Amino acid sequence: MPAGECVFCSIVAGASPCHEIYRDDATLAFMDINPANHGHCLVIPKTHFGNIFEMPPEAFAAVASAVVKVARAVNDELRPGGLSVLQANGALAGQTVPHVHVHVLPRRADDNLLINWDRDRANRETADPIRISALAERLRSRLRG
Ligand code: AMP
Ligand code: ZN
Repeated sequence: MPAGECVFCSIVAGASPCHEIYRDDATLAFMDINPANHGHCLVIPKTHFGNIFEMPPEAFAAVASAVVKVARAVNDELRPGGLSVLQANGALAGQTVPHVHVHVLPRRADDNLLINWDRDRANRETADPIRISALAERLRSRLRG
């Protein structure tokens, strides 16, 4: 996608407004315009990457470093009780803006934010240890290259 058509590139370029909270050489952080809850903000790379599959690990590391700083600031300022960090790739994962961004989401008791799955292992096919072990072997093999 050309930078001129990307809303987050437009923010980086200063052509669209945002409530900026942090910037460094590689990243920018600002308040989400349509927050899931009070304190929801975003951290983005200044360079356009559509998703993490297109992104060198070092570029995501720079974003991760900024996420830690922003998450600490949000946590210290709001003391929400908990905080989730979320990053979506593809529409199936909930991605709506095709420029990599990490959500920093304060979490509070009974906030009913719908990103939690059932942690109860009982009766879940995905918790089958043989299935987990077999997939781990396939992924180890892929990561060895
Ligand atoms: P996702 O659905 O994971 O792609 O997240 C995109 C996020 O970007 C949503 O939470 C939107 O509210 C937010 N968003 C979209 N446009 C803007 C904007 N111009 N300024 C700030 N946040 C935005
Ligand atoms: Zn962009």
